[in-house]
Amino acid sequence: MNKRLVTAAGCLLFLAAGLTAWAQSEPAQVKDIVQHVLASNEAYMKAQGPTHFKAFAEAQHPRITVVACSDSRVQMQAFDASPDNDLFVIRDIGNQLATCEGSVDYGVHHLHTPVLLIIGHVRCGAVQAAMGDYSKEPPSIKRELDTLTLKKGGDWLEEVKANVNAQVKAALAKFAREVKEGKLTILGAVYDFADDLKQGSGRLVLINVNGDTDPAKVKALAAPKK
Ligand SMILES: [Zn+2]
Repeated sequence: MNKRLVTAAGCLLFLAAGLTAWAQSEPAQVKDIVQHVLASNEAYMKAQGPTHFKAFAEAQHPRITVVACSDSRVQMQAFDASPDNDLFVIRDIGNQLATCEGSVDYGVHHLHTPVLLIIGHVRCGAVQAAMGDYSKEPPSIKRELDTLTLKKGGDWLEEVKANVNAQVKAALAKFAREVKEGKLTILGAVYDFADDLKQGSGRLVLINVNGDTDPAKVKALAAPKK
């Protein structure tokens, strides 16, 4: 047999063996995850029906640009029953603008969402890390913690709120014109899945409206329209 062919066949055999080994060594957990994801998607497709997707197949028209922490305990369905085509979502550790500026700009300047919602959350690991010594973290994580300017050794919950307020302040500086012209409202909120704020587990608590943290003002905005 041609030597080159033999080598090629050998390579293929080696590859096949490798693939089989890979498939066999695949942890059962990953298989479960894949099945869960695909089954959930199938159920979602059936529940929505094709007309649901047709409505926004050509273009997106979200009403809110969201900047939220990547924490898995924070999910959009908690405050928007139908987030499809409604939320333009940007997530990172610590719900910060500094590490996702372009994406936020896209939501505000190109998609013209009338609201920019910044969502922090109770028991945020990024906030906790930024309050302490993170010098042993890899450079990529250090960089994203450096941009959170929090009180070292401060109160965790207070610093979560302080971070949301700081992000609203940064957004106000960035989008001053849009806010002044009434085209954009910047909201800051804390998502509380642990009832740390004593308003019920799972509550999204608004704490800042365009830089105003006066609870009466925030409450007035949340009151139903007359
Ligand atoms: Zn977090």
